[in-house]
Order: sequence, then C-alpha cells, then structure tokens
Amino acid sequence: MAVLRIGVDDTDSVRGMCTTFVAAVLEKRLREMGFEQIDYSHLVRLNPNCPFKTRGNAAVSLHFRVGDGMVGEAVETAVKTVEEFYEKGFETTQPGVVVYRGEDVPADWAGFALRAVREMVELKEALRLADRHGAQLFMFNGGRGVIGALAAVALPLENPTYEAIAYRAPHNWGTVRRIDRASVVKLYETGLTFDSYDPVTDEVRITPHTPCPILAGVRALTPENALKGLSMVRFHEKVLMTTVFKTNQATDMHLVEKKISALKPYSNAVLTGRVAAKPVKTAGGHVFIKIDDGTGEVFLAAYRPTGRLREVVYGLRPGDLVRAMGGVKPKPQGLTLNLEKLEVLELAEQFVTRPPKCPSCQKRMESAGRGRGYRCGRCGARLGVNHAEVVAEQRSIRPGMYEVDVPARRHLSKPLCL
Ligand code: ZN
Repeated sequence: MAVLRIGVDDTDSVRGMCTTFVAAVLEKRLREMGFEQIDYSHLVRLNPNCPFKTRGNAAVSLHFRVGDGMVGEAVETAVKTVEEFYEKGFETTQPGVVVYRGEDVPADWAGFALRAVREMVELKEALRLADRHGAQLFMFNGGRGVIGALAAVALPLENPTYEAIAYRAPHNWGTVRRIDRASVVKLYETGLTFDSYDPVTDEVRITPHTPCPILAGVRALTPENALKGLSMVRFHEKVLMTTVFKTNQATDMHLVEKKISALKPYSNAVLTGRVAAKPVKTAGGHVFIKIDDGTGEVFLAAYRPTGRLREVVYGLRPGDLVRAMGGVKPKPQGLTLNLEKLEVLELAEQFVTRPPKCPSCQKRMESAGRGRGYRCGRCGARLGVNHAEVVAEQRSIRPGMYEVDVPARRHLSKPLCL
C-alpha cells in the first residue's frame, strides 16, 4: 500500500470554476474506486498579497491510501479530472497537479509550503523541490499552479479549521443562489460555526459572490460542527454534493514577527513599533500612520473598507506603542503595511495647552495673538505665554486589539472572536 498525496491548484478564472470543486469531484471519484481516504482534503489559502492570485488564492490536496498496483490508475484519474474541469481559454489559469508517494512529508517541503503562505515563492524553487523528492508534476497552460499544488500537499495543519462546502448543480451555476436567510441567522445564533453571518451589515457570509460552483461554505473549529452547521441551512435549490475541508483559514498562519528593515514586498508581517507622526486621513477616507521600530519607518494603512479600524488608527498619536499585522505592499510613499489587525499596546501621554483662567475674575482668558500671551475678556488682565495651562489630552482610543470590519477580512485572518 502507498500513501498518495495529490495537490491541485489554479484551475479557476475570474469567470468561474473553483479549485475546491475539482477537489470535491476527485475525492468522490477516488472513493468510488475503493481507495481509502486517510484525511479530509486540505484547502490551503496561500499568500493573500500575491499579485497574480485568482480571488482567495486557494489550493487543495487529497490524501489517500492506494494499493501499489493501483497507483497509476489513481494518478490518471486525478490528472483527467483536472483536465476535464479547469477553466480553459484564460492565460492566467495555469493548473498544476502534484503527486507524492510517501507516508511523511519531508521537512524542507513543509518549510517551502509555509513560505508560500507568508511570502512570494518562485516556480524555479518549486520545480527543484519536486525534483529533489521525486514528486510527479503535471502542468497545463504554463503550470504555475504547481507552486500552490506543492504547498497544499505539504503545508502542516496543526491547528486547522474546517469548512463544509455544498456545491450547486451545473445548470444553476451563474444564477442567484437560493438560500433561506433566516436559517443562516439561526445558524449564526447557535455559535457552532464562525463567519456565517455579519449582524452589523446583515450580510450572509456563507455564500460567495462569484459565478463559481459553490452554493455555500460553513466554517467551524471541528469537522462535526461544520457539517452540522451546513445541515441547518435551508436551500431552495439542488445540492450536488457536500465536502468537508481541513483548512488554514482563520488561523493567522500568514503572519510572522518581523523588523521593518527586513520587510519584503508582498509578504505578511507583524510589526511592533512606536507611532512616529500624527495620522493622516485622505479625501477618500483612508487613514495612514507612520511607525518606527528602531530599524526603520513604515506606513500603516487602514483603507476605507476596513471600517471602524480607521477610527482607531486616526486616534493614534506620536509615541504610542502598537503591534500591527497585515500584508506589505509597495506604494508611492514606500513599503506600506495594509492593516488586518492592530493592537494598541501603550498610549503615550499627550499634552495640549490652553489659555489659563484669569487670576482676578476666574474667567477663561483668550489668546492675545500668536506669541503674545493671554488677555481677559472681562477685566482686561494680561498674562504671558508661559502661563498657558498644560493638560493631558483626552484620548479617543484605549489599549486593546482591533480588527478590520468583517467584509474586509481575509480568509487567513483569525477573527478576534476565535
Ligand atoms: Zn479677568
């Protein structure tokens, strides 16, 4: 018997299809051939900052035990299934299939997979890795997908989450999903799952907005709860099939502590530093702030869709100590960290000056002009600038952890409620 691990990536386009659907079909076919599935199929979210990702940048892997004489047949089924379903006619859709025979995944391969979640990795490196470990590669239309397929095969999922996905019958693809909203709200209220519904925006979160074959996906910390949650949702259309995936979604796996001087474009980072200047709000409603960690300075960005997080950033003042988490993008002002989460560790005391009270009549004095001290409006008394009253600024924010609004959250980001 051989353990067969099959990775698949990049079968979808902006128009449709979905790599998880290809995995679900393949999983069903391999089971029907009598092979023993040794783990849930893995749904792996790769670096969310990759500039040439399609949508959520997902890759998948399947894990089966196969009789030695049947390996060829299993591999052929995998390759044929990908060939059958991938979106043809798109230059950017470059499917890759990786097949590895082995009980354990080599450590350097797992390391490569982790890097594919956290930063940019090159096709060259992926090909060398596959060669070194005798993995079989199948590449279509250029085959850049082998990078994700290799990562999906080997990514360690030690504290995974699960997603139970229901798929639509092909004749319904591209039409409005018929789903009972009230049943989703009820599911949300059970607390069995996460990310099913956003009470702030009244948005159902389990259905995608793309023309892909997914009807709904329900996320939970255990496979049982994911399935139970999905079974609570009422659909007014046919469910073609249901599959549970083990995933790195909502795990923060992409985030790594870094120094500002070591930041690379399109990577992900956790930075700890002090605010170096007052926040700036643009006309478009985006908020930027500069921090310094002793090795360098970088801008943090809270864009409009991040919602209430912008108010937190706007409330920061020079000297405040923060931990910032997010993706690093090259921008005209230099490398910029797009915030996913922000922890305010320490507020530096801020002082502001105001006119003193009049010593004779206790009325608050007025400025007599820049650098010219203060004047009492009632009795005409004068005081010099050095009599200004210095008071601590009333801060609008408190120390604590803050995150982007739900619609702006990435698949990999761990919601604070978890
Ligand atoms: Zn007075």
